[in-house]
Amino acid sequence: MKLIAAFIILGIGLVYWSVMLKQRERDRIHRGWLRLPVVDKYNQRNPLSRSGRNGSACCYCGSRSIRQLGLEARNDQRRVHACNHCNANLYRTYR
Ligand SMILES: [Zn+2]
Repeated sequence: MKLIAAFIILGIGLVYWSVMLKQRERDRIHRGWLRLPVVDKYNQRNPLSRSGRNGSACCYCGSRSIRQLGLEARNDQRRVHACNHCNANLYRTYR
């Protein structure tokens, strides 16, 4: 009986531990998203984006081909905009 109780407690502990690790990973991804500049700040800092043409350009390679992805899932409202040419993460938006 004590052995079954020990296994149940161990199982609950493992589930709790895995939920904690998953939440920690999600927090780390969110903090990384927050470190990206918002689009207005990015365009202010990046002279290629301020050159008068519409849209932003990659500050690393100058490409204007930029894709946007959901941070954790396709329909995530936290969007990351990345260069299609050099794959650098450029700025964030929220939709
Ligand atoms: Zn680029």
